[in-house]
Amino acid sequence: MHELSIVANLFEILEEKAEEAKAKKIVLVKLQVGALSGVIPEFLNTAFDIYKKETIASEAKLVIAEVPLKVQCQKCQTEMIKDDYVFICSKCGSTELETISGTELLLEKLEMEV
Ligand SMILES: [Zn+2]
Repeated sequence: MHELSIVANLFEILEEKAEEAKAKKIVLVKLQVGALSGVIPEFLNTAFDIYKKETIASEAKLVIAEVPLKVQCQKCQTEMIKDDYVFICSKCGSTELETISGTELLLEKLEMEV
């Protein structure tokens, strides 16, 4: 499960941040997960719950904000959401689409108790 290594990395960051802030515990972690990030939110949740035990985030809630795949046509400049992952402009039929968002995996928000 690819998500386990992601969560392992995430906890390294969380522990660093908590140390910097001299926090006693982490209560909320919000992640942005792009539709094309290759991460399955459900697996990420499971991995997080397994990993968080006996860490500073043992009571933390994980919130996952899913970011849809958004592209812009390089021919007609139209921006569109691609739920079907078919890289064809729905306006002019061009295949010259540039990804704007949907590949990210970001730590958006962290709430700690000091
Ligand atoms: Zn177009």
